[in-house]
Amino acid sequence: MPKFEYAPAPESRAIVSLRESYGLFIGGEFTPGARAFKTISPATEEVLAEVTEADPADVDRAVSAARKAYEHTWAPMPGKERAKYLFRIARIVQEKARELAVLESLDNGKPIRESRDVDIPLVAAHFFYYAGWADKLDYAGYGAAPRPLGVAGQVIPWNFPLLMLAWKIAPALACGNTVVLKPAETTPLTALAFAEICQQADLPAGVVNIVTGAGETGRALVTHPGIDKVAFTGSTEVGKEIARACAPSRKKLTLELGGKAANIVFEDAPVDQAVEGIVNGIFFNQGHVCCAGSRLLVQESVYDQVLAALRRRLETLRLGDPLDKNTDVGAINSAAQLAKIRELSEAGEAEGAQRWSPPCDLPVKGFWFPPTVFTGVSQAHRIAREEIFGPVLSVLTFRTPAEAVEKANNTPYGLSAGVWTEKGSLSLWMASRLRAGVVWANTFNKFDPASPFGGYKESGYGREGGRHGLEAYLDV
Ligand code: NDP
Repeated sequence: MPKFEYAPAPESRAIVSLRESYGLFIGGEFTPGARAFKTISPATEEVLAEVTEADPADVDRAVSAARKAYEHTWAPMPGKERAKYLFRIARIVQEKARELAVLESLDNGKPIRESRDVDIPLVAAHFFYYAGWADKLDYAGYGAAPRPLGVAGQVIPWNFPLLMLAWKIAPALACGNTVVLKPAETTPLTALAFAEICQQADLPAGVVNIVTGAGETGRALVTHPGIDKVAFTGSTEVGKEIARACAPSRKKLTLELGGKAANIVFEDAPVDQAVEGIVNGIFFNQGHVCCAGSRLLVQESVYDQVLAALRRRLETLRLGDPLDKNTDVGAINSAAQLAKIRELSEAGEAEGAQRWSPPCDLPVKGFWFPPTVFTGVSQAHRIAREEIFGPVLSVLTFRTPAEAVEKANNTPYGLSAGVWTEKGSLSLWMASRLRAGVVWANTFNKFDPASPFGGYKESGYGREGGRHGLEAYLDV
């Protein structure tokens, strides 16, 4: 197939006006804190801004501001009034969509095509969706006039910074809770832009508070005695630590943790369509996706055909500048994550799997890893068991649907799975046996605010999104 060369088509970053430094957003204002850290662009290692590291005293101020707003303003406010604020936030997100997309790609390293077409539209959709629930909670199935929980402490990761913020804040606010949110250390900028949106929407002071910092700030937040509800998305390891810390308290907890999803291709699947789904499943967002289809299970009879088509497709992926509209694969979010991906990939080779990447020039500066496929993978290999959280696919085979189910479920995780087949009955048969919170049929990585999302086993508990997502923020 001839390979097209594309002229660079960079999105202008002039639309973003970065401040030199950002304070903490507490009680409706940006306030100074004790220490600062720098946030960089993972594509160039350029320093983007200086951000404040919240210490326990700052977290305490934020929790007090949230408590005051909860008791005096937000919880007593009628749902239809709260809805107006959420609708306003959703509309401002839409108005600022281009700016937010550029900022997200700068700070996170993800391709602008993804932040522009996936992340930011879904952020607005989440606020619109939960705005609609704010005055209809009586009809959500949790009894008449369900009450909010109080102050929510929310800790989010770096892979979908603004989208994870929306998943956390929109349902919390719709139900009448106030929040203190900690974005990830490497991606704080869109959360701080969101703080400015709250100001622009005239959201009452203290309803949303943003405390930036690293793991210690997160720990201070989730262990603060003034928090009624903890919501966490991130690694299983930190999730377990938070579960232990919350166990002796009355705090309600939801955890959305890791995954090692199986993407299962049957012999009757349309190959080209399945290959698009495989690529979207593991190379979307550089594989920094908790529900990524990181284990490909291919029926033995079509293995050669699927692998050949997959290799051809991967040769056309363009890796590089996240702000270029032609880029498919952007930068790895941090040096630490790159080191983890390299370590696991080396373990894959050492354990005997065959490694393949398309020819691909990696930029000199920044953190980069080529799209990588491992074949000859056995279920015992670390690359088949551990979450790599990078653009690395492990390929296994199966002969029968029963074997596919057994292999797919052979993981401590259970967040998502994909099934590719023309037979509807087989999709349903598989879906009823796969221990995964989401099962996609003939598609992958599709999200909608009306659809609940969450896991089994070590992928966590609780659901986000949809009517089910309200339960986490109501006293039911
Ligand atoms: P973490 O779980 O450490 O980070 C998630 C969030 O928790 C961040 O805001 C982090 O802050 C914060 N945090 C860290 N330690 C604590 C603590 N003790 N108490 C409260 N909050 C804390 O993920 P990493 O960024 O370290 O990534 C490591 C691995 O986790 C990845 O390689 C990937 O496998 C997995 N991961 C899974 C995600 C998912 O969605 N399932 C998302 C992100 C990572 P800070 O950023 O400052 O460390």
